[in-house]
Amino acid sequence: MRPMSDASPNTPGEVRRDDLVAWLNDYLQIGEFRDVSLNGLQIEGTPVIRRVAASVDTSVKTLQHAADSGADLLLVHHGLFWGKPLPVTGPHRERLRIAIQADLNLYAAHLPLDAHADVGNNAMMARALSLQNVTPFGEFAGKKIGVAGEVPFELSLQDFADRVQKLTGEICLVHGGGGPTVQRVGICSGEGSDRIPEAAALGLDTLLTGEPAHKHFNDAFEYGINVVYAGHYETEVFGVRALAAKLEDQFGLPWQFLHHPTGL
Ligand SMILES: [Zn+2]
Repeated sequence: MRPMSDASPNTPGEVRRDDLVAWLNDYLQIGEFRDVSLNGLQIEGTPVIRRVAASVDTSVKTLQHAADSGADLLLVHHGLFWGKPLPVTGPHRERLRIAIQADLNLYAAHLPLDAHADVGNNAMMARALSLQNVTPFGEFAGKKIGVAGEVPFELSLQDFADRVQKLTGEICLVHGGGGPTVQRVGICSGEGSDRIPEAAALGLDTLLTGEPAHKHFNDAFEYGINVVYAGHYETEVFGVRALAAKLEDQFGLPWQFLHHPTGL
């Protein structure tokens, strides 16, 4: 690897890790979020980044895939550190071992990548579904991390679910507690079924989220709102992909999405 001094400028196709991390931290405004996830650089690897991999989750599989593909940086939505001390044993040790042995940087962006107006999971889905008059929605730890908007023309619940299915490639689970038509939609990727009361209070007729919690099953029917569950994983592929593409635009870094679906 060509050594780079502090004074040398970044050239297209490669960037100093510290510069890239500073750019990401600023672009994603990670300091603005109270999050159980440790957002930012979680594992320090090689000091120069030339190739990026992106995945939703951090696992032995995704880390090994990133290492095998020659990536210098793995960009993830779900990182390794979630607000509690972890002994370096078992699978956690193995994950760290793979990254450190491969000199792989691991950067995690959780809530900041749900919420981001350009590359966020929810903004990306709203654009793909052509929602209009999009506003922030879905309060979490003092920040709105989702979006709400209107479909361009009234759709049946079935048509809306079909559009979501086309977008994610997975069959949706629909709890039709609202009316038969869809006009005003809230989107909250991942595990967002606890947003049902907030969505209903805002007069939204439909909530699109990822994964249902069993305790929220009755809420859809009792609050009178449709809930479309499109998968935790499948609703969170958008952000890391868009962010990696942004790094390509910004720094000329080639990237690859590592698809390891969970089916959840
Ligand atoms: Zn998630």
